Amino acid sequence: MDWIKRRKTRTVWIGNVPIGSDHPIVVQSMTNTFTEDIDATVAQIKELERVGCEVVRVAVPSARAAEALPEIKRRISIPLIADIHFDHRLALLSIENGADCIRINPGNIGAEWKVKEIITLAREKGISIRIGVNSGSIPKEILLKYGSPTPEALAETAINYAKFFEDNDFLNIKFSLKGSDVRTTVLANRLFAGKVDYPIHIGITEAGTLLSGAVKSAVGVGILLYEGIGDTVRISLSTHPKEEVKVAYKILSALELRKRGVEVISCPTCGRCLVDVETLAEEVEKRLEHIEKPFKVAVMGCAVNGPGEARFADVGIAGAGDYFILFVKGKVIEKLSQEEALEKLVSEVEKLAEEK
Ligand code: SF4
Repeated sequence: MDWIKRRKTRTVWIGNVPIGSDHPIVVQSMTNTFTEDIDATVAQIKELERVGCEVVRVAVPSARAAEALPEIKRRISIPLIADIHFDHRLALLSIENGADCIRINPGNIGAEWKVKEIITLAREKGISIRIGVNSGSIPKEILLKYGSPTPEALAETAINYAKFFEDNDFLNIKFSLKGSDVRTTVLANRLFAGKVDYPIHIGITEAGTLLSGAVKSAVGVGILLYEGIGDTVRISLSTHPKEEVKVAYKILSALELRKRGVEVISCPTCGRCLVDVETLAEEVEKRLEHIEKPFKVAVMGCAVNGPGEARFADVGIAGAGDYFILFVKGKVIEKLSQEEALEKLVSEVEKLAEEK
């Protein structure tokens, strides 16, 4: 039974990836290399692709960065979004250079004619535009009306931009509304989502380091997704962007909206544990991050609950004294040392991934 009913939206394409309610929620991330450093940027995008990133955004703060786009695009397999602030000429150059989508915040692009030039060229090249609205760039008159960047102020700003783009016959748009906290972001998206049928990109901006950012994002993004809002997700974390992709999938998977890759179930350990569950679980997660198919892998500390839990997983290991028992599809296979257990577990999952 579907426990989440997604909000109905139109479909917008980023390259060959469709965004909208008829399609799976798309996971994206953003590189933190200097875009003009093509080798470093491509290498990072390849790492992102490996963990399941489906669309990638790069910062374009200069003409040199925009000029790097064709070569980056040639060497990667997923669509590329150019992130533009302030200078509309960089948006034009990025579109000319093959960006699959442009992310702009009309509030910091300035005069309307500049945004219109972007629209004209995007239409000519058939690419989509993501319109970003955040607390720092709400137009003065709206800020005056609400007194501060409230959810209503964010939603009204986004609705006005939607009208502007509609008046210019450009509907190939999706939106993101980001407040500086979870509450504002959730409320703003809720208000906006009730009024338009454009796809929405969701995320909690400047969420923080891996742990605090993942928790904050899981709460904010989780609430929105549970309400059926959100067609593409980016988790912002102050760490390697690969982690953003992994966290995004974990949130989507917890909500049963998407399944990708290996879910490691590990016990919290207790005074009965004679094996190193923490290191092993982390190692297992790392070694299996390239697997796309969804598997449950258990790493349990002892024989009290361990074998039971491990049996429900596709592959599992449970501590038995200071060695491990390996289970595959519920069957006990063999007793192993910690090192052997890690290698065997990884190879069993890889074997299953090939078979499936
Ligand atoms: S599986 Fe065993 S070691 Fe792990 S928490 Fe449960 S009782 Fe403790």
